[in-house]
Amino acid sequence: MKRMMWLLAAACLLLAGCQKKDNEPVVKNVIFMIGDGMGLNQAYAGAWAKGEPLQMMASTTAFALQETWSADNKVTDSAASGTAMACGVKTYNYAIGLNRDSVPVESILEQSACNGKATGIVVTCAMTHATPASFVAHQTNRNKAEEIAVDFVHYGPDVMIGGGRKHFEARKDSLNMSDSLRAKGYDVVYTLEDAINSSSKYLAAFCAEDKLPTVVDGRGDFLPRAVDLAIQKLKKEKNGFFLMVEGSQIDMRCHSNDMVGEIGEVLDFDDAVAVALEFARKDKHTLVVITADHETGGLAILQKGAYEGAEKFRHKFTTTGHTGVPVPIYAYGPGSQNYEGLMQNSDHKAIMSRLMGLK
Ligand code: MG
Ligand code: ZN
Repeated sequence: MKRMMWLLAAACLLLAGCQKKDNEPVVKNVIFMIGDGMGLNQAYAGAWAKGEPLQMMASTTAFALQETWSADNKVTDSAASGTAMACGVKTYNYAIGLNRDSVPVESILEQSACNGKATGIVVTCAMTHATPASFVAHQTNRNKAEEIAVDFVHYGPDVMIGGGRKHFEARKDSLNMSDSLRAKGYDVVYTLEDAINSSSKYLAAFCAEDKLPTVVDGRGDFLPRAVDLAIQKLKKEKNGFFLMVEGSQIDMRCHSNDMVGEIGEVLDFDDAVAVALEFARKDKHTLVVITADHETGGLAILQKGAYEGAEKFRHKFTTTGHTGVPVPIYAYGPGSQNYEGLMQNSDHKAIMSRLMGLK
């Protein structure tokens, strides 16, 4: 009897977790934006370089901190934290879309697709890299790029824009995964211009062999334009959409302890945030969440009077790796009040799923 009551209580709790709270708005679309490696210090370095608050700071309505630890390490990698955000479970470093027992877990992108929503991913790294992979693939190791590319063919989003062409086309198994995507109805293109000119609902734009160039090396406004394109395509779906956007190279610049590069990547990511927020302000049924998977570089901002520009910025990186400090969450739109206090990276999926009414 006791056992039955416990089971009943557990079932009620489970149901309550899926139900809408009183007066909670229905969220039609979610734009989930990840600055890879973007701790508060990275974001503020960008703001001080710009001389004004970033869009993510000035134009959002909710703020929280999230802990990023993984199941096997206080310091996460992008795979474990990406999986936590996408799938709602803490897992071991290097795992993609699996729980700590290596069992595949449905991601918020997959769940959105199963519920009839359009889905998209926009990144500046290879499409098979750890963060985007966490929303689509299920593999024991993030380095299995060719296996991850196969997962993108089977379960990929309607719109994918980024790099990573070689993992689809120059493969050890000689298979051409771009042809497989074409067979499934995708328009596969290799430049953002061709992507913009494509009228296809299903679009794969692999705009670099691996990752895109850095901002400093001339990537230009690729990311904000790609985000705008993805939104224009996805918003045609009457059931709404889920879009994941990653400022992928903040992390990479911080691994290289490159402050000027880091500032360029953060400001570029914030330009993409501005595009998402502009759409959300007009649409009124879109939740925008901006966060990071972890901090990279142990960046310290040091005292020196007024800010003097990126090159003169006083700072110190304390590592070429990741750190374990909490990272910011900024949110805007219906449901954004769910983001408050100290949260876990594994909290996002349940919140977004509930707000969108997904089953
Ligand atoms: Mg990443
Ligand atoms: Zn990293």
